[in-house]
Amino acid sequence: MRAVLFAGDGEVRVDAVSDPGIEDATDAVVRVRRAAICGTDLHAVAHSAQLPRGFVLGHEFVGEIVDAGSGVLGHRIGDMVVGADYTACGNCWWCRRGDHWECAERRFFGTGSAFGPPLAGAQAELVRVPYADTVLRAVPDGIGLDAAVFLGDTLATGYAAVRRAGFRPGDTVAVVGGGPVGQLTSLAAQACGAGVVVLVEPVETRRALAAAQGALGTDPDDARALVDLVTDGRGADAVVDAIGGPRGLETAFGLVRRRGAVVSVGVHTDATGPLPAARAFADELSLRFVIGNLMRDADELIGLVRSGAIDPTVVATESVPLDDAPNAYRRMAERRTLKSLIAL
Ligand SMILES: [Zn+2]
Ligand SMILES: [Zn+2]
Repeated sequence: MRAVLFAGDGEVRVDAVSDPGIEDATDAVVRVRRAAICGTDLHAVAHSAQLPRGFVLGHEFVGEIVDAGSGVLGHRIGDMVVGADYTACGNCWWCRRGDHWECAERRFFGTGSAFGPPLAGAQAELVRVPYADTVLRAVPDGIGLDAAVFLGDTLATGYAAVRRAGFRPGDTVAVVGGGPVGQLTSLAAQACGAGVVVLVEPVETRRALAAAQGALGTDPDDARALVDLVTDGRGADAVVDAIGGPRGLETAFGLVRRRGAVVSVGVHTDATGPLPAARAFADELSLRFVIGNLMRDADELIGLVRSGAIDPTVVATESVPLDDAPNAYRRMAERRTLKSLIAL
């Protein structure tokens, strides 16, 4: 089969590799119809200490089951399915609580050994999926492939942030960062009852997209003034940091009101970081970190997309054939595109 591979030195290439097959009874093999390129892929390629050359990339995918082990009971060959971006057993103490990220069987597709034992990715004609009954969900009629590919990670992440924020209907929600996750967090917040959603983003085209999709877009320098305007000076009831690192948290704490919640879905790699501890105590602030989970939230995510409450395809800038994936990686890394889909 052909696949997008890590080529070393920050580059990717498309080449032929051997087809994956069933290795365990609970595996399925999926013929990929849509894959997506994610900021996590760009990060893995740029900081590749845990990514061997020739590794198949990608963790966001939709496709058709073409082979299944004898232990796969919930899916059949021919089913159209969306994959979670990481695996879990579905049966352990953590999985039973809906905390699949903590499962000892966690393997993150297409990222080398960054988040567990390596598992070949899904920017490929075929992908092997362990624990297929848990990791795969059927895509129902009424959800197109271009929308379904967002269920596994980008929308799952935005939705998880909104749920963890715990705001009330009509509350003001600020989202820091207008990348794909930030944009879909804005849509999820609106669909889940937020009042005003303010999206904080320095790039004008990304602010314009958020504004076209029902949020108020603002430059970081003007964000606090806008939030004050719509909250009578209190600050946002909840703030989602969709950037990560110290800058995302600092911006979020600058916008949240007393007794408000900051939820971070951005990636953090520093061992420690600044926390406004005195204010967090005096103002009874909440701080939570969130990772998306299709395996737990699939029913809600499917309901939101199938009903039309959320259209995640608004963040897809382009759809390219597999052979053009290296150029699509480049365009995303240079911020000329927001999100690229790969159509197979
Ligand atoms: Zn992703
Ligand atoms: Zn488990």
